[in-house]
Amino acid sequence: MRKKQGILVIADGMGDRPIEVLGGLTPLEYAKTPSLDFLASKGACGNVHPYAPGVRVGTDVGHLAIFGYDPKKVYTGRGPIEAYGDNFELEDGDIAFRGNFSTIDDDFTVIDRRAGRISSGTKELVTTLNGMVLSNGTKVFVIALTAHRVAVVLRGKNLSTKITITDPGTAMEGEKLVKPQPLDDSKEAKNTAMLVWELTQKIYDILKVNNLNIQREKEGKLSANMILLRGVGIKPNMPKLSEQMNIKCACVAGEMTVIGVAKMAGMDTFMLEGFNGEYDTDFMGKAKLGVKLLKEDKYDWVVIHIKATDLAGHDNLPYVKVDMAEKIDLMMAYILKNIDLNDCYVSFTADHSTPCELKDHSGDPVPTIIAGGDIGIRRDDINQCGEKYFKNGSLNNLRARDIFMIQMDLMGFTKKFGS
Ligand SMILES: [Zn+2]
Repeated sequence: MRKKQGILVIADGMGDRPIEVLGGLTPLEYAKTPSLDFLASKGACGNVHPYAPGVRVGTDVGHLAIFGYDPKKVYTGRGPIEAYGDNFELEDGDIAFRGNFSTIDDDFTVIDRRAGRISSGTKELVTTLNGMVLSNGTKVFVIALTAHRVAVVLRGKNLSTKITITDPGTAMEGEKLVKPQPLDDSKEAKNTAMLVWELTQKIYDILKVNNLNIQREKEGKLSANMILLRGVGIKPNMPKLSEQMNIKCACVAGEMTVIGVAKMAGMDTFMLEGFNGEYDTDFMGKAKLGVKLLKEDKYDWVVIHIKATDLAGHDNLPYVKVDMAEKIDLMMAYILKNIDLNDCYVSFTADHSTPCELKDHSGDPVPTIIAGGDIGIRRDDINQCGEKYFKNGSLNNLRARDIFMIQMDLMGFTKKFGS
C-alpha cells in the first residue's frame, strides 16, 4: 500500500458550549471559517472524546491521547513532561517535579506564586542551584523553562513519588509552604519527603542572598527566593511513535508542555522564534513551517499546535476565541493551497474543550475533521465547521486515540490484524 503523508492542526481548548453573546453559537460555529468548512466537506467529521465521555483532561493528557497513547498507562505526571520539554533525559529511578520561581518571606509564607511573573534572569538563578547534592548523595538538577517555570529532577537512591508537594496551591498567597509528607509507609517515601524539605530549605538559603535577587529587591521587584514544587513523576515508559508505527513525526508548537509530550513520543520538535503559547504567536509561520517539513519529505506526519484558543477560553473572551479560530482558518487556507489532499490527509482537532463560561477545561467532546482526496476517504456530506454541524458526523463519539489510529490507517502505517 502506498503511504501518504498527514498534517494535523490542534486548536488547544477549541471546543466550547453555546454562548449568549454569540447568539447561542460556539466560537467555532460563530467564526467565519471558509477553509475549515471546505475541509469538513472533504472528509469525516465529528465531536470526539479526548479520553472518555465526560472526562476532563489537561493539555498533557489530551496530547498523549491525540498521539495515540493510553494516558492511563503512560502518564506519570507533569514534572517529567516539563523536563523532557527542555531535552532533559530522565533515567530510571529519577523523580521530576515541575516548579515555579516564587516569593516567600522568612517564615515560608508564600507572597507571590510567580515571583512577580519573573521573566528574565531565571537561567542565572538556576545555575546556582543546579548540581547541588543533598545529604545522602542525591543529586539535584534544576532546569529553567519559560518565564517563572522550572523543572527539578532528583537523582539518587530510594526515591519515591509518594509524597505530598510543597506548593500550597493556586490562589494560595498568604498560605505557608507545605512540608512534604510521605503518602505511604515505605522508607523511600519517608526518605524523599525529607530530601525535598532539605532541598526547599537549601533553595531559600541560596536564592535569598543571590545578587540578582538583591538587585530585584532594590528595584522594588519581588525576590525569586523559592521554587514551589508539584507534579512529581517518574520517567514514563513510552514506546516512541517511530517504534510503534514506523513513522517519522514532527511537532510545530510554541508551548513547552506540548513540546515535552511530543518529545516523549519521539517526535522532532520545532519551536522557532515567534512561536509561543500566547495570542500573538506566529500562526502563519507555524503553517508555513508545517508545509515545508512535509514538502522536504523528511516527515510522514506533522502536527501543528496553537494554544491561543485555550487562553481565550480560560480568559472568558468569546470574541477573542472567535478571532483565534479565524486565524487558524487562515493557516488552514495556506495549508490547503500548498498541500494536495490526494497525497496528504489534513486533520483538525482539539485536545479538550475550554468553554468560555467555565474558564476551565470541560469533558465536552471536541470538533474534529479528517479530510483527504476524492477517493482517499469517505465523506460525511457536512459543509460547515463547528460542534453542532458535526452532530451527524461519522467520527462522533469516537475517542482521540481512535482518531489517531484512523489517520495512521488512512496514511498506510497500520499493520493488518490477522492474515
Ligand atoms: Zn489544552
